[in-house]
Amino acid sequence: MAKRVFNFNPGPSTLPLEVLKIVQDEFLDYKGTGMSIIESSHRSPEFDEINESAITLTREVLGLGDNYQVLFLGGGASTQFAMVPLNFLGPDRKAAYVDTGSWSSKAFKEGQIIGDAVLAASSKEAGYKFIPKMNDIKYPADAAYLHITSNNTIKGTQYHEFPDTGSVPLVCDMSSDIASRKLDLTKFSLIYAGAQKNLGPAGVTMVIIRDDLLAKAREGLPTMLSYKTHAEKKSLYNTPPAFGIYIVKLVLEWIKKQGGLSAIEKVNRQKKDAIYNLMDSYPDFYRGTVEKDSRSWMNLTLRLPDENLEKKFIAEAKAVGFVGLKGHRSVGGIRVSLYNAMTLEGARKLAEFMETFRKSNA
Ligand SMILES: *Cc1c(COP(=O)(O)O)cnc(C)c1O
Repeated sequence: MAKRVFNFNPGPSTLPLEVLKIVQDEFLDYKGTGMSIIESSHRSPEFDEINESAITLTREVLGLGDNYQVLFLGGGASTQFAMVPLNFLGPDRKAAYVDTGSWSSKAFKEGQIIGDAVLAASSKEAGYKFIPKMNDIKYPADAAYLHITSNNTIKGTQYHEFPDTGSVPLVCDMSSDIASRKLDLTKFSLIYAGAQKNLGPAGVTMVIIRDDLLAKAREGLPTMLSYKTHAEKKSLYNTPPAFGIYIVKLVLEWIKKQGGLSAIEKVNRQKKDAIYNLMDSYPDFYRGTVEKDSRSWMNLTLRLPDENLEKKFIAEAKAVGFVGLKGHRSVGGIRVSLYNAMTLEGARKLAEFMETFRKSNA
């Protein structure tokens, strides 16, 4: 048996061990075909079944109807920063963006390159320590869309409610918290997520678009950059990221087996409570970097009293099998990523380690 660590990497990140074992079992001979799925045609019946299941499971797990198209595209979430405005930001319209951190400002920048993108709200002045209040998000009544980032992977904040945008389409980058809690997603017109945090390996990006928004997508775009191309062909216009889609399908099956999003949410709540409760018991030693009501359940960011202690923490944690805890260079400190595949045992053991570390270093 391979020795596996508790992997707190922010992305690519830990995947369910059950899923990795299935991939391993099926790797050389996918369901009696005598070949690996990565050696199969994306037009084969085997891959077609995978693609169809991945689409159906996405709708089922996330609670979405057939009026949402599910696409699996290449290019990462970062390509979506451009595809969204290319498809939906016409010349006489404005698109509004909420700036809550590094990824949302990158999305905003792409919007500005392509058209008239305006800020609807920003927490930049406050070092991105919070998610703006829903009432403070202001945008034109005829905006092409409002773009938000549900979880700020680097800064450690997360939306715990969402704006009601009425007739303005709500577009969301959910890369780092998709499928982590039970939400009513029907208020979103478009959701995208790079798979490498909660859904699978890097290389595939899930895009979910409601039909009424898709119908408004611009014509005359380069073929590969048009959502309509990919929706009409069920992501099979060209060779899709097939291996990634296969793993996303297995991860969605794993989520279903856990009891769906209510069960996943319950465990995720216990995981983040294990760490935040410990931090709140010793606020002078483990100092959270964001406001409490904006705290992320997926990426928990904290500082220790000084940088040498942080280095020591990371090194000692690694020595006992907890890896990936170094904060992003723009924040420093520690970042604990608790994606779906991190076990409750992993979060509890890390909390114990933190308790012990504080005792010997405070
Ligand atoms: C990781 C991440 C991205 C970037 O994803 P790529 O697939 O590397 O382009 C974008 N947005 C958020 C919120 C992320 O966490």
